[in-house]
Order: sequence, then C-alpha cells, then structure tokens
Amino acid sequence: MPTIRTLIDAQAIAYRVKSLGAAISHAHRGHDLVLISVLKGSFVFAADLVRAIEIPIAVDFLACQSYGAGTETSGVVKITHDLTQPIEGKHVIVVEDIIDTGLTMSYLLSNLETRKPASLEVCALLHKPARSRVKVPIHYLGFTIEDVFVVGYGLDFAERYRNLPYIGVLEEER
Ligand code: 5GP
Repeated sequence: MPTIRTLIDAQAIAYRVKSLGAAISHAHRGHDLVLISVLKGSFVFAADLVRAIEIPIAVDFLACQSYGAGTETSGVVKITHDLTQPIEGKHVIVVEDIIDTGLTMSYLLSNLETRKPASLEVCALLHKPARSRVKVPIHYLGFTIEDVFVVGYGLDFAERYRNLPYIGVLEEER
C-alpha cells in the first residue's frame, strides 16, 4: 500500500487560493468574465477559487483526453466535453490543476483562441517547470513544485485520492 506524504497542506492551499481570487477580482473588475474549469482534475480547485472571487463571473467546463504512452502526455488532445456557451468577446480564464509538460494547456489555448475571446488567461494551481516541453503563459499560479507525482485536492492516481483535502506525494511503503 502506498503512503502519502503531505506536500502542501489544506491551510496553505486555502491561503493561496484566496489571494488568487483577490488578484483575479482586481484584474477583471467590470469585465464579462468566464472561468473554464478543465475536468476532472481542477474541479476542487475551481470550486474554492470561484468562492474567492468577488466579482460577477460565469463558470463553464471543458473535459479533455490526452493520448500518450503510460503517464506521458503526447500533446494529442481530444475535447470530450465542450463548453456550453460561446466565449466570443468574453474575458476567459482557464483553470487547470497542474501544468506539467504544458502540452495539454498549449492545445487548449490554441483551440480556445479560435473562438475569439476578448482575453485568454491561465490560472493553474501547480506548475512543474522541470518537465516543461512547451512554454505556456501562466497568469495566476498557486505553487511551483518539483518533479514529483502528486495527488489530492482534485488530482488522482487511477481515479483515487481526488477527495484528499491536501496535496500529497505517493510513496511506496518500505
Ligand atoms: P501536461 O499536458 O501539462 O503534461 O499534463 C497536464 C495533465 O497531466 C494535468 O492536467 C493532469 O491531469 C496530469 N498530470 C500531470 N502531472 C500530474 C501529477 O503530478 N499528478 C496527477 N495526478 N496528474 C498529473
């Protein structure tokens, strides 16, 4: 059975999410703002983030599948659930759990750009710069982490651990 080492505890996450919400509220006051939560991994983060934003917003969801060998992303991404509303002329923030190689977000941004939003930004809870393969602009970032596989706060391993209230690293028991 693997054990889980806490990397970022619930209190640190809550504190950071509050300040991301405040930064977004400040930058987008008066804008027609849409937050797009990328499923499934960002659902917990997005749920907390929207409650830390003090301006009117709309929320939409996008689900995608990335094809690749094992845990490695290939950059070939298929949208399996698309937005329910057009984003033309709107200010858009894509909310993602983690930017790893950057390939998924790079694909999503180029896809969303074709829909002519007024602006398009990224809010990511986590970033692993060591594994970056394409440069992705991250306008709002929670935490930079090392090259470790993390679970919890929405992130899974084989669909488990999404419900952990903190972010942890899976470790094999000795
Ligand atoms: P990228 O295209 O940036 O390589 O991959 C992004 C996606 O890979 C994330 O949305 C997430 O689903 C998955 N991913 C990358 N690193 C991790 C990790 O450490 N833990 C988990 N659970 N998923 C990860």
